[in-house]
Amino acid sequence: MKAKHLLLPLVILLTSQNALAASEQAERLAQESIIVDGHVDAPYRLHNNWTDLTQGETKREFDLALANKGGLNAPFMSIYVPSSQDGTVQSAQTAHQLIDSVEALVARAPDKIAIATSVADVRSQFKQGKLSLPLGMENGAPIGNSFETLREFFDRGIRYITLTHAKSNHISDSSYDETRQWHGLSQFGKRLVGEMNRLGIMVDIAHVSDDAFYQVLDISRAPVIASHSSMRHFTPGFERNVSDAMLKKLAANGGVIMINFGSSFVSQESRKWYDDYKAASEQAAQKYGKDSAELKQFKEDYVTGSPFPFATLDTVLDHIDRAVQVAGIEHVGLGSDFDGVGDSLPEGLKTVADYPALIDGLLQRGYAKADIQKILGENLLRVWSEVEKVANNSAQMLPAGYDEHSFANPDQVKVTHVSLQLTANFKKSELEGTATLTFDRVQPNADTLILDTRDLTIEGVNSGGQLISYTLGKTDKNLGTPLYIKLPKASNSVTVHYKTSPKASGLQWLTPAQTAGKQQPFLFSQAQATHARSFIPLQDTPQVRVTYDATINTPKALRAVMSAANDPNAELDGRFEFNMPQAVPSYLIALAIGDLAFQPMGKRTGVYAEPSWLAKAAAEFADTEAMLETTEKLYGHYDWDRYDLLILPPSFPFGGMENPRLSFITPTVIAGDKSLVSLIAHELAHSWSGNAVSNASWRDLWLNEGFTTYLTYRIMEAIYGKERFDQEAVLGYQSLQHTLASKTPNDQILAIDLAGRDPDAVFSNIPYEKGALFLRELEHKVGRENFDNFLMQYFKDFHFQSITTDNFMAYLDKTLLADYPDKLDRARIEQWVFAPGLPEGVAVPQSDAFSIVDTARSNWLAKGDAKTTVNPEGWTVHQWLYFLNNMPKQLTPGQMTDLDAAFNLTDSANNEIAHSWYMLAVTNDYEPAYDAIYSYLVRIGRNKLVAPLYAELVKTTKGKAMAQKAFKEAKPGYHPLTIKKNESVVFAD
Ligand SMILES: [Zn+2]
Ligand SMILES: [Zn+2]
Repeated sequence: MKAKHLLLPLVILLTSQNALAASEQAERLAQESIIVDGHVDAPYRLHNNWTDLTQGETKREFDLALANKGGLNAPFMSIYVPSSQDGTVQSAQTAHQLIDSVEALVARAPDKIAIATSVADVRSQFKQGKLSLPLGMENGAPIGNSFETLREFFDRGIRYITLTHAKSNHISDSSYDETRQWHGLSQFGKRLVGEMNRLGIMVDIAHVSDDAFYQVLDISRAPVIASHSSMRHFTPGFERNVSDAMLKKLAANGGVIMINFGSSFVSQESRKWYDDYKAASEQAAQKYGKDSAELKQFKEDYVTGSPFPFATLDTVLDHIDRAVQVAGIEHVGLGSDFDGVGDSLPEGLKTVADYPALIDGLLQRGYAKADIQKILGENLLRVWSEVEKVANNSAQMLPAGYDEHSFANPDQVKVTHVSLQLTANFKKSELEGTATLTFDRVQPNADTLILDTRDLTIEGVNSGGQLISYTLGKTDKNLGTPLYIKLPKASNSVTVHYKTSPKASGLQWLTPAQTAGKQQPFLFSQAQATHARSFIPLQDTPQVRVTYDATINTPKALRAVMSAANDPNAELDGRFEFNMPQAVPSYLIALAIGDLAFQPMGKRTGVYAEPSWLAKAAAEFADTEAMLETTEKLYGHYDWDRYDLLILPPSFPFGGMENPRLSFITPTVIAGDKSLVSLIAHELAHSWSGNAVSNASWRDLWLNEGFTTYLTYRIMEAIYGKERFDQEAVLGYQSLQHTLASKTPNDQILAIDLAGRDPDAVFSNIPYEKGALFLRELEHKVGRENFDNFLMQYFKDFHFQSITTDNFMAYLDKTLLADYPDKLDRARIEQWVFAPGLPEGVAVPQSDAFSIVDTARSNWLAKGDAKTTVNPEGWTVHQWLYFLNNMPKQLTPGQMTDLDAAFNLTDSANNEIAHSWYMLAVTNDYEPAYDAIYSYLVRIGRNKLVAPLYAELVKTTKGKAMAQKAFKEAKPGYHPLTIKKNESVVFAD
């Protein structure tokens, strides 16, 4: 602890040290049971006043000799950091020093003491006769805003964290602090609970406010502890203790209350004495001065005249009785607070040598041996094991609907509309201007709006002409920097003046040389997953949907377009206005500026591109209107008015981005023969799955991409026939197999665990192809027509909402699982969604067109001479890809030369075929292709095409040298995401 009552002067009085003599039975029980103490403040006392606790008797309440005498086995060493250090770098420093001091203690007697980081450690060290020192952190301030720091402390051994201490901190309100800035937990605090569950750190609710307590219990996926709290029943009004109702809730969640021994925790009389003493001292301090001799004398006289009423061992036993009565024997433990409450410990419980006296008291009150052992340690060890289990299974546990990748607090204040006034400065590679955010107060008393930002320069915030105060929080590597804005009293909007950084992760500024036309610069944004915050300060979480409008100022001659209503006839006068009437998640706000022209393709479809690409693109994607009509027939009305395409320069890191009304598309799919247009079907399908029904957090990405991939196959089948569907399905399945083989089990799960990780670094085609395969199985089981009806209704029911995997599972329970109980099995569905790999007996896609290819390949492998053994007349691009992708890994130089000579693969104009061939060329060190590979890497920035090549190249010294050279040359033209994904691979040691 270290709370108010800690100020209790040590001069109070010397108390009788004559502990009640414990019975022999109690002594024996103390030695043969594992005694865990939830809270011993030895480290902070060492920190202030060092003494070697391993050598003989000290004057402390805890040392090795006393612990052995009392039969204590696993006292949690409190890594306590005072609230006065909250928000400073000193805070983490202190925590590290305290851990150092525990390590130093262990190093002084390594044969007798060891740190314990698991239940298994405690048990095995108990058998070896060693004292275990587990670590608990009291006050989460040292973590700052960083899950990385949290991991660092976990790695150092911290196994519980008391969220706050004497003051409300950035995680939680405190029971001791009347300021209730969060009304419970902060948004970060809520995320922190989830992350502690994931890592396997117990959540300690000692010290938090009641509101925070209840929120923790709602969120935590594992039982929680109160490491050193007593029963409020005996100390009415003392929020630091736990009420009966709270204890019931704690027990229902499986947790444990560890009873604090301190007199002022267990006795109302002691509490009152302390309150009176404090009030009198404060008065005296005013009269005599803070550090005066008179004040000191006053305090001594006070204590002599009115001695501190110590509680007794019996008082503590009363608390244990009450806790057992309220919560049951499984939920009570001991959290003495030795070395933490000054000289205020009860008569008979003065040091860790006194556990036998406590055990004796329990025996006398009729507790059975097994029950006493539960209280002494087994209950805490059970909770700790549960926490370890949850951490191991964390990939299968869902967060309670909050977004781990945003600082925003939409549960308190929700932004509903964003209004942008921005000027694009191509010379400085900056957007500059304002964002005006209109919001709803979800909690009427909320006073802070928290926005996400990354690398933004905030120049000021105002509302209705008044300046508003704001602060920027600590920057997290993955999340960026939170912007805290004090809410204006009389208004529901704020305007942020800001500019972006030239390195904004969501913007790419291209020089004229990097465009097709070579005359004008180009800018495009890419907001998914968490990059909108790098060009707009906003609540960057898919849980929040906003409408938006924008005025964009550009250099004359350029055209700006957005994921909003675009006017293709807008004059090129350097000013463009947009309005987006449908509410979208932030990741769908998009902007591009360049030398753009427009060509219609159908009634509702058209294409924007640089003039030299325009005709080619319009021809390639001419089927877009038909795709739109087909999708509407299958899944319901298209709700976004127009569907246009924007063709970006080749550095676009993705195939496409489903920005509503205006999909952003890589030019690498313009093949001249419509062979790669499934990408358009995919981006279009997102108008239903993703844009209309959105994932609520990035863990639920599969709800966007799995559904969209499934829809894509269906659209392709409807437009181009079953044969093409079969071919694409086989290729999709094969690429899924490759991905599965390369991923750890946890990353093969659809509802992937991203907590503490950067989504960009983790995303793969698992949510796409595995998600689609899952939905295809559902379709096969219930029948296509029924499944189509289900999907149509699903899109209706969740129209313009953001949902979690939880929501989806609950929806399945009410719909397909209820309607087809004999055809569907929930356990198998859970396996699809929450387990790695694929369930047994998945229907593997087949294509007849590929058996011809298999025959050709085998023929060639047996006899050589590709010109005569392989007849590719009429082969689709997919057959070519299948032909190449399924070659044996090792081919001879002669075989490579033969294939290339027959089919001119090195010079293939199809970017996908070229990619497959180059992969073979690198693996087999086929020199003649290297120049082409080099220019391919420099020309194209689409990650799907370049990342595998880099990964393959770096496997050899020669390849690595080439990869590095190509990367350096290409880097100025690469998108930040392509750089991020490949740079560490290419330059790895
Ligand atoms: Zn405490
Ligand atoms: Zn997609």
